[in-house]
Amino acid sequence: MNIKFNIPPYVGKETDYIREAIRSGKICGDGVFTRKCDEWIQKKTGTTCSLLTTSCTTALEMAAVLADIRPGDEVILPSYTFVSTANAFVLRGAKLVFVDIRPDTMNIDENRIEEAITDKTRAIVPVHYAGVGCEMDTIMQLAEKYGLTVVEDAAQGVMASYKGRALGTIGDFGCYSFHETKNYSMGEGGAILIRDRDKVERAEIVREKGTDRSKFLRGQVDKYSWVDIGSSYLPSDINAAYLYPQLLQAEEINRDRLHSWDLYYAQLTTLAESGRIELPVIPAGCEHNAHMFYIKAKDLEERTALIRFLKERGISAVFHYVPLHTSRAGQKYGRFSGPDRYTTKESERLLRLPMYYKLKEEEIGYIVNGITDFFK
Ligand SMILES: *Cc1c(COP(=O)(O)O)cnc(C)c1O
Repeated sequence: MNIKFNIPPYVGKETDYIREAIRSGKICGDGVFTRKCDEWIQKKTGTTCSLLTTSCTTALEMAAVLADIRPGDEVILPSYTFVSTANAFVLRGAKLVFVDIRPDTMNIDENRIEEAITDKTRAIVPVHYAGVGCEMDTIMQLAEKYGLTVVEDAAQGVMASYKGRALGTIGDFGCYSFHETKNYSMGEGGAILIRDRDKVERAEIVREKGTDRSKFLRGQVDKYSWVDIGSSYLPSDINAAYLYPQLLQAEEINRDRLHSWDLYYAQLTTLAESGRIELPVIPAGCEHNAHMFYIKAKDLEERTALIRFLKERGISAVFHYVPLHTSRAGQKYGRFSGPDRYTTKESERLLRLPMYYKLKEEEIGYIVNGITDFFK
């Protein structure tokens, strides 16, 4: 067998929708399918406003602009995340303050945030790793207490929720990714979710190169002009047309992935109970979306050996983030608050197993056998 780590989601109707987008004669941004995707996200998540973007990276950049992050401001985030979470704020001149993660979920440790807050802190950026919600009640209470903006990096969190609320809708801004490695894809793409109505107008302006073109198109102003800073964050309608049929089938895709996740979990339980590996933890109140299935080996050495072992059997299992505070740019633009008790240690143990829409039961069985044989 040869099992890839990821196969991008595809439901079979993408080409038809793209043809329709082309026939509509308007393939630039905010065409028919961009609107349909935004409406779907709004309805599904209950957010006040969703605006499709060219990526989650640019959604985060928009959020940093909308949060008015300025040079010298401090932003709190985990070190165990993708570079885009950090870059978006560094581009505004912010200083990064990395906070340790919890070993159970790999999410920012909400109990370590308060000690990282200074009089320069402006924002907290929780990252919902693997589509499992951060402890948002605590984070929102801290944000309230210190007057901070919360930007949720919910790149991996589409169709997941925390205490009944969709990830990405709890903080001031939420950022989704529709990259081909995520649960729903438009190749490259994302969305910014905006909680408060009074921030929507500026978001539209920032997304449209700092102009009030959106208002112009709605006939609310008779000419459009440059009114604020901004950039080109609007995706082509062709990309949105690729995404839309997947959103329409989101429940089915989500069920399929959760089924695979549950199978992995059940079939690896014996190995976990014998203490050889650890399995992911889903806290009460979190409904995840099976974005990822990972296990934890004893240490870096064992994980490296396991990756090699599985590779020989045609199974592609991969590690994940190298903590940002250990990278060259991370050291230049940030500091770690408090001790690094789990970030480095846990990141070195974590191994992601193949996970995608339509992963077969036989494939999961084959992967589990491989892991079991390794530990024999
Ligand atoms: C994928 C991902 C991103 C970046 O998403 P793009 O759409 O590729 O820009 C950002 N943050 C996290 C946590 C991600 O997993």
